[in-house]
Amino acid sequence: MNVADSRRLASALEMMGFEPTIKPKDADVIILNTCVVRQSAENKAIGRLSSLRPLKDKNPDLVISLMGCLIGVRGNQKILDRFPWVDVASPPSDPTPLINFLNQRSGKDRSQAKQDKINAILDGDFVLPQKDQNQLVSAFIPIVYGCSHACTYCIIPSKRGIEHSRPYDEIITEAQSMVGQGIREITLLGQIVDRYGLDLPGNINLAGLLHDLHQIKDLKRIRFLTSHPNWMTDDLLQTVADLPKVCPHIEVPIQAGDDDILAAMKRGYTSAEYRDLVGKIRKMIPGASIATDIIVGFPGETQEQFMNTYQLLDDLRMDVAHLARYSPRTGTYAERKLEDDVPEAEKMHRFRMLESLQEEISTEINAKLMNQVVSVLFEEKSRGRWRGRTPTNKLVFVESDENLLGQERNVLIEWTGPWSLIGALQ
Ligand code: SAH
Repeated sequence: MNVADSRRLASALEMMGFEPTIKPKDADVIILNTCVVRQSAENKAIGRLSSLRPLKDKNPDLVISLMGCLIGVRGNQKILDRFPWVDVASPPSDPTPLINFLNQRSGKDRSQAKQDKINAILDGDFVLPQKDQNQLVSAFIPIVYGCSHACTYCIIPSKRGIEHSRPYDEIITEAQSMVGQGIREITLLGQIVDRYGLDLPGNINLAGLLHDLHQIKDLKRIRFLTSHPNWMTDDLLQTVADLPKVCPHIEVPIQAGDDDILAAMKRGYTSAEYRDLVGKIRKMIPGASIATDIIVGFPGETQEQFMNTYQLLDDLRMDVAHLARYSPRTGTYAERKLEDDVPEAEKMHRFRMLESLQEEISTEINAKLMNQVVSVLFEEKSRGRWRGRTPTNKLVFVESDENLLGQERNVLIEWTGPWSLIGALQ
């Protein structure tokens, strides 16, 4: 979400006459687009913000701006009081306050046509920023903003506001425009992406959107994330199975494998229901890869409850598990009502247990690709090697002097590891 928001903001700023620079000390405007989903992310944002102070002291004309979840849809006066060198703050996905601030400051009269273009970008027109032009192969499109689910541990609903879907036509137009500018893969984003359209009039849903996006010529791949187990319909799974451009890769977090913990998290399903769902995904989309998210050390999680999560991960053998240690977030139900009683060392221990289990599983799954030919969409060349991904989202490295950027090519896999593969062009 933040990557997509930052890219839109970058194009608007370029339209206003700004250019990107790599070194903060050369910048006239610095924007930190922040995440606060865990304390570690928040600390990173605060650390960066603190490190900017000397630049502001040296150059009082420097504009320092905060954006994203550290500010949130309701604003965050405490942060602004604590960091008086912040000039302007914008909520997630809406840089209007920053744009207005810069407009006022420059005092320049912009032609109406130019201002209309800037507004159009902020309203949804897609223009690739200069540094991405002829470079970017894969891009994100937010389709559902905010979230109304209120898992007890999660701060996102209070920071990003209530769930609302983007208009259907706007998404199609944005995707067409991206493809016209060289993008070959799009990833549709939402906190619960499969709820897309439920708040819009008419019979709009993610499956229908995928069908329409599928028709865009020169678009090679479509992905979507994140799914919630309760909202993955058979229709959606069938659509993924039917449409060749829609990648057989499902990101569907379980968060915990113990039913009491799942209930305390207010996730709305049991571990048995999740197991059934994984079975159904595998049956309906043969060869699909599945990624999950897990939080260890939720308040009150006993050793036995944790072992239920461990067992589930061991049984289901999914391709990827994004692991997190529970982090109390101000204002959430869990932070207000439940004691963060699993010691940090124990959280770390549980984290490491799942990490090494998943490493074994991913190693085993990826090893099956040895000597197989897979299709890879190439995204970047770095340190002499081309990097791309399979439809199942496996990272593949290939050495080649050809320009493979944006090409989908067959690759023979010659080495496999838990996190990536190495192969040769066919
Ligand atoms: N809406 C998506 C993504 C949420 S944020 C979803 O429901 O999955 C991404 C991940 O961060 C979550 O899946 C969860 O595993 C983790 N997370 C969220 N809040 C957290 C918290 N308070 N402590 C630790 N991990 C958290």
